[in-house]
Amino acid sequence: MSRHAQSAASSVFSIDAQGWADGAQRLASPNFEARPDGATPTLIVVHNISLPPDTFGGPEIADLFLNRLDCDAHPYFDTYLRGVRVSAHFVIHRNGTLEQFVSCDERAWHAGLSSFFGRERCNDFSIGIELEGSDTQPFEPAQYATLAPLVRAIAARYPIDALAGHSDIAPGRKTDPGPHFDWARLQRETQLGDAFFPYLHART
Ligand SMILES: [Zn+2]
Repeated sequence: MSRHAQSAASSVFSIDAQGWADGAQRLASPNFEARPDGATPTLIVVHNISLPPDTFGGPEIADLFLNRLDCDAHPYFDTYLRGVRVSAHFVIHRNGTLEQFVSCDERAWHAGLSSFFGRERCNDFSIGIELEGSDTQPFEPAQYATLAPLVRAIAARYPIDALAGHSDIAPGRKTDPGPHFDWARLQRETQLGDAFFPYLHART
């Protein structure tokens, strides 16, 4: 194992009994609800987000998920985000920092109109992870170094059987996590089998 791989493996998370990750900064969002009929999460959805688009490092993503984004601060916010109520369970920033906004036990509002192999309303049964990024540039190694152990921790706690991109479950409507997201790298670093990546390896 290379030194780089060792450092990448140094982040270890676990999900506690209330669905919160040890090692994440907790920023509790009001934008969630109970999963219907006690549904358990079986799907992880990977996204990208940057606010304003292609701008990194600010507090705007957290502000959006906490309903405190100043929509007068940028024309994009004014046009697209005024009054929007959204959330994801997790955000991984460019430096690998992990924030959690909604317990994994609850239903966050990240996927919208969506379908996973014919099963609709993906928010009901998924956990959403946002990578701070865009469709136009690569993600940082530090982000994969957080994402992989986070995925493993979630899969150890819940009966996860697949990962998907937002674009996979909302094709034509969403493009994230985009062409720069390295699914093969995520599979390699999580050591999850091909069946967990049904959009990367065709189901037989
Ligand atoms: Zn998305």
